[in-house]
Amino acid sequence: MKKVLLHICCGVCAFACIKHLKEEGYCVEGFFYNPNIFPENEYSKRENAAKDVCDINSVKFNSGLYEPLKWDSICSAYANEPEGGMRCDLCYKIRLEESFRKTIELGCDLFTTTLSVSPHKKSKIINEIGSAIAASHFMPADFKKNDGFKKTMEFAKAHNVYRQNYCGCSYSLRQNLKGNKQK
Ligand code: SF4
Repeated sequence: MKKVLLHICCGVCAFACIKHLKEEGYCVEGFFYNPNIFPENEYSKRENAAKDVCDINSVKFNSGLYEPLKWDSICSAYANEPEGGMRCDLCYKIRLEESFRKTIELGCDLFTTTLSVSPHKKSKIINEIGSAIAASHFMPADFKKNDGFKKTMEFAKAHNVYRQNYCGCSYSLRQNLKGNKQK
């Protein structure tokens, strides 16, 4: 049975991705690595939720380092980019590069990410970035297909998994707060 390291952005997104990979016959390990998340207490909430979802699904959970300074040094130059722009491409790249490193460290056969389950994220771009990092190990995916997002929301709701209301970085948090004020 092939072993896949699943990069997990948050507990909610992980649910349907884990179930899908298991149904496809893979042995799954989770990997939470998200230096983009701001502030740190939000990071802890998402990390705990990701661990809970792995536990519920009997999947081994691994956590990376919290490295916000590294993320800032690469992404802050693109602070004014809209969501889905260059800052996000770099943000995916940072997370997928570390996921590949972890894949080799753990002796997994493949790696992929929960990021593509979100309707706000373009799977094509995520898959291009993952393949450019390691075509031999990256498993392209589009977890939002076949109602993946709807299903993951339902699973998460049924298990009362913590759900955030912004993507993760300080810029997306500010955008969210601005949007709420305008409502
Ligand atoms: S909006 Fe989301 S994907 Fe884009 S840079 Fe911020 S945390 Fe990363």
